[in-house]
Amino acid sequence: MFDANNRGVLELSRRPGNDICADCSSRDPEWASYNIGIFLCARCAEMHRGMGSHISKVKHIRHDRWEESQVQRMCEIGNSVAKAKYEKRVPPCYRIPNEMDCDALLEEWICAKYQREEFYRMERQPFMAGHTEGYLMKRGKEDPRYYPRKFVLSEANDTLKYYVDEKKDPKSSIKVSEINVSFAPPKMEKKSSFQISFVNSAGLTRHLFVYHDDPQTAVNWYNAIRCTKLHRLQITYPTVSQAQLVNLLTKDFIHEGWLWKTGPRPTDAYRKRWFTLDQRKLMYHEEPLSAHPKNEVFLGHVMEGYAIRVGVPAGVRDQKYSFTLWTPERWFYFSAEAAVDRDAWIQAISSVIETPPTPQEVSMAARMVRKRGIFSSR
Ligand SMILES: [Zn+2]
Repeated sequence: MFDANNRGVLELSRRPGNDICADCSSRDPEWASYNIGIFLCARCAEMHRGMGSHISKVKHIRHDRWEESQVQRMCEIGNSVAKAKYEKRVPPCYRIPNEMDCDALLEEWICAKYQREEFYRMERQPFMAGHTEGYLMKRGKEDPRYYPRKFVLSEANDTLKYYVDEKKDPKSSIKVSEINVSFAPPKMEKKSSFQISFVNSAGLTRHLFVYHDDPQTAVNWYNAIRCTKLHRLQITYPTVSQAQLVNLLTKDFIHEGWLWKTGPRPTDAYRKRWFTLDQRKLMYHEEPLSAHPKNEVFLGHVMEGYAIRVGVPAGVRDQKYSFTLWTPERWFYFSAEAAVDRDAWIQAISSVIETPPTPQEVSMAARMVRKRGIFSSR
């Protein structure tokens, strides 16, 4: 069934621009949308199918039959021409997903491009409004259930507020310029969820866990927060380039997972904790969805005495797959469940401490309450 038309479309798929998926940039796409005129990976092709054939008509390059006119259309359009049209006005704050990103971000990117045509009709960009309000399901602080809470994002005030009772004052008013948002971290086990983290007035990190059943609403919130952050940063740092500022908007966690942690005495027990490496901040928590970390450690530079090594020093109780983190204040002893986990943590922490901190990171370190629990072995 592989004929001259298949060969033609296969050759087109190898041309520069067509050799990466039009939506997630993964290599060597094997599918195509023949009405839009783009080459796609299997995952994005499935998402195109989900929009319905009135939006996107999907075929496999080798395994489906191609008409000559369809090959001709692929030749006339292709990924670069389609990109110039469908991504013409992607705002700089918009998170453009790649193949590593979760389904909700990728799916919404595809729907925004081809179904809602948000990026060549600017009036269709709700996240750019400067004000967003609506209900999100928020996890209780001490209670694992989720409750509907009204959230209000205001660019003019640089605040994200949420209400338990709308007739009363907000339960919390958070400075948007100081929050980090991580979209759908796997631990939340919900497709359209995000974690908002910030340092509260007492100098402690607080995590809010929220979701919305509708992925479009959740992704709009996420991009609205990014847009607000960008506009606030542009006011604060008028001379810094937009590209540099975009890089500061939201950061996915570098690494997360369970580790065991012990104290310096051989009698100290190993306790299981959920660890999150958020930029230069290593936090550990009782549970993956704890509202506060039990402790947080700023990771400086190797030149300042930070180091990480396999094993623990003599005298410290050794558990399988252990490793040691040196900081100028104290040493931390950890143990992973498997060698591969330990090596992934060592690699993640090494990459952080081998990079000199930025001025923003140094000021974050100063704000962190470093005394709190830092000498404890909880
Ligand atoms: Zn793709």
